[in-house]
Amino acid sequence: MNQPVYMDYQATTPLDERVLDVMLPFLREKFGNAASRNHAYGWEAEKAVDEAREQIAALIGAKAKEVVFTSGATESNNLAIKGVAEMYQEKGKHILTTPIEHKAVIDPCKRLEKDGYDVEYLEVDKFGQVSAEQVRNAIREDTILVSIMAANNEVGTLAPLAEIGAVCHEKGVLFHTDAAQAVGKIPVDVEAMQIDLLSISGHKVYGPKGIGALYVRRRNPRVRLVAQMDGGGHERGMRSGTLPVASIVGLGEACRLAGLEMKEEGARLTGLRDRLHQKITSELDEVYLNGHPDQRLPGNLNLSFAYVEGEALMMGIDDVAVSSGSACTSASLEPSYVLRGLGVGDDLAHTSIRFGLGRETTEKEVDFVADRVVGAVKRLREMSPLYEMAKEGVDLNEVRWNPVAD
Ligand SMILES: *Cc1c(COP(=O)(O)O)cnc(C)c1O
Repeated sequence: MNQPVYMDYQATTPLDERVLDVMLPFLREKFGNAASRNHAYGWEAEKAVDEAREQIAALIGAKAKEVVFTSGATESNNLAIKGVAEMYQEKGKHILTTPIEHKAVIDPCKRLEKDGYDVEYLEVDKFGQVSAEQVRNAIREDTILVSIMAANNEVGTLAPLAEIGAVCHEKGVLFHTDAAQAVGKIPVDVEAMQIDLLSISGHKVYGPKGIGALYVRRRNPRVRLVAQMDGGGHERGMRSGTLPVASIVGLGEACRLAGLEMKEEGARLTGLRDRLHQKITSELDEVYLNGHPDQRLPGNLNLSFAYVEGEALMMGIDDVAVSSGSACTSASLEPSYVLRGLGVGDDLAHTSIRFGLGRETTEKEVDFVADRVVGAVKRLREMSPLYEMAKEGVDLNEVRWNPVAD
């Protein structure tokens, strides 16, 4: 059987071959422990880790010393949010975030609420953005942290990071951003954007799974964290545990490549994504874009197809690997909480599809996927009495589905 066409790059990205190549020696003969100070095996590993730290820092405008290795963005978010909350609890217990963050931010916040913290979820607009003005108005005396994601993993919407960072610094509040989707895809600069903590995930940038990093600002201000993992005091005491050298080397190389190729690749993906969007909407009506029309990730297209069942649509395009905002594909019964946060109605949320394009996506694949989607939606709508009624001009909101004698 042929593998389906992969269009789920926001879920994960394949390991770049070039990344694998630089990793392999560290899975073979260069197996030293980066913490071994007494022999060449250790020095070799430590040198490789230092180089990767430089490469990651360079991509986000940071210093190598400000990069803390973790197991991924989930851990980075946990360390940033819980670590700051614990460290600064004397100053206050108020935290600002949004309802459309990744679960790896929402759930640590929920945990903190149970522990007596006051987490405020700022309302996002219909595109999924909060403004710096909203942040300014919500900051209080006891606010210790603002956590707002750089790019949303479902709808691709980008946050006005520089504006929010400026407000946070003016008010003396730490600013964390979950940048798992943004780093390596769009320019991110912790200085220009005044970011204090930033989460990175290896497997979203064509690096390995199980590796990530947290940027922790060392100056203006110096951010302090309570470690969430106790052990040998690695990573300046912020994250104990023997460093996975091969994975770290891979993340470093992935960041180096992303920095080199981001501009060109971003333009290529924007073109492909717009082509996909255009091909679909030129053949189908009642297709709605979720997220921001232009402030969005180059490789993300999230569409809702009115009058089709999300599940049926997913089955109709089973030779394409995409994600859906529909309930039944995930463990929960609710449709996507992100789309709900944007004010998308349940009907349209249930019929949403996220197309994630990336480094290996070709124009041929885009055309194939567009054809499959158009064909499937047309077929399903032909069988839909609702679509037929809507086409005949019946206002479905006026229809009494269940007439009772009155
Ligand atoms: C994938 C993702 C995460 C989780 O990253 P892991 O490295 O898989 O733990 C967190 N936040 C966002 C926005 C993501 O896309």
